[in-house]
Amino acid sequence: MDCYSSLFIDALTRGDLEALRRIPKSDLHNHQSRAANKHDLEKWLNVTLPPFPKVSSLTEMDHWYRQNIRGLTPTRETFELKIKSAFCEAIRENIVLLCLSIGPGDMQYFNNDIQEFIDTIEKYRLEIAPEITFIPEMSLCRTDNEVMNQFQIDTSLELLKLNYFKSVDLVGDENVSPAPFRDFYQTCREHGMITKIHVGESTSYENIEKAISELEVSDIQHGISASESPELMKLLKEKKIILHVCPTSNVMLSNTCDYTSPQLRTLIDYGMKVTLNTDDLLIFDSTISEEYIKLYQSGNFTVHELDDIRLCGLQYS
Ligand SMILES: [Zn+2]
Repeated sequence: MDCYSSLFIDALTRGDLEALRRIPKSDLHNHQSRAANKHDLEKWLNVTLPPFPKVSSLTEMDHWYRQNIRGLTPTRETFELKIKSAFCEAIRENIVLLCLSIGPGDMQYFNNDIQEFIDTIEKYRLEIAPEITFIPEMSLCRTDNEVMNQFQIDTSLELLKLNYFKSVDLVGDENVSPAPFRDFYQTCREHGMITKIHVGESTSYENIEKAISELEVSDIQHGISASESPELMKLLKEKKIILHVCPTSNVMLSNTCDYTSPQLRTLIDYGMKVTLNTDDLLIFDSTISEEYIKLYQSGNFTVHELDDIRLCGLQYS
C-alpha cells in the first residue's frame, strides 16, 4: 500500500475514471511512434480516426496501422505531435514513471540525426512533463536477415555512446532467434541498462526460455505464455524478471479471448512481478486508467491485486 492506495481502491470500485486518472501510475511498455492518444491527433490534425478492429496477428495490426494511421503523420512537424501527445497523456493520466520505446529508424523525420530526434523528445518532455521519471528505451527488431541484424547492432552501438538510452528492447517475430543480439545485450548490461525482449505474446513459453537463456534479459514485454509453465514461472521469480503486460493489446490481437482469460490470473497466482501498460495507445485507444478498470470489471482480479500491480510499476527502477 502507499498513500494513494485507498483512493485508488475507492476509484476503481466505483469505476470512477476521472478519480483513477489522478492516482500515480507507471507505463513501462509503450512504443513512442504509436504512443499518442488518438483523440489528441484527431483534434490537432482535424481528422477522424477509425476504431481498430480486432485482428488475429501482429502482421494484420501493422497492416491496419499503415493503411489507416501512419500516413497521417508523414512530416517532422506531424511526427512531433505524437511525441507531444505521449507526454500530454502522461500528465492527463498521472503517469509518473514512463518508459518510451524509441525506434532509431524514426530519425528519418529528423534529418537522420539521432541527436536532433533526442533533442526534440527532450524539448517536449521538459515543456510538458518535466516532473516525471523518464526511461528512454532503444528498440531493435530481430529478423532472419543477418545483414539487417548487424546493421542495427552497429547503429545501436553508436547510440550507446550518447549515454541517453537507459533501456533496450528487442521486438519482431518471436520465432526468430534473438541469438545474434547476445553480445550487444551484454554490452547494454555493462552500460547498466534495463534489458527487455518482446516474447511470450503470441507464441509458447519455450520462446521465453530461449530468450532468457540467450540474452539474460531483466524484463519481458508481454510474456503471458509463461503461465503455461510452472517451471518457467519459478525461474522468472528466481531471476526477478518483470513482465510488462498489456491486456487490451492481447485481446485486440486475439492472443487472449477477453479480460477474463486465465493467463494473467495464473501469473498473479504464482506471485510473478507484473506491471500494467498500454503498448500502442494510438491503435488500441485504451488509456492506462481504462486498463485497470477493464481488469477490475472482468471480475478476475481484486482491487488489492490491481493496486499491487500499480505499486509494482511505481517501485520499478
Ligand atoms: Zn509492445
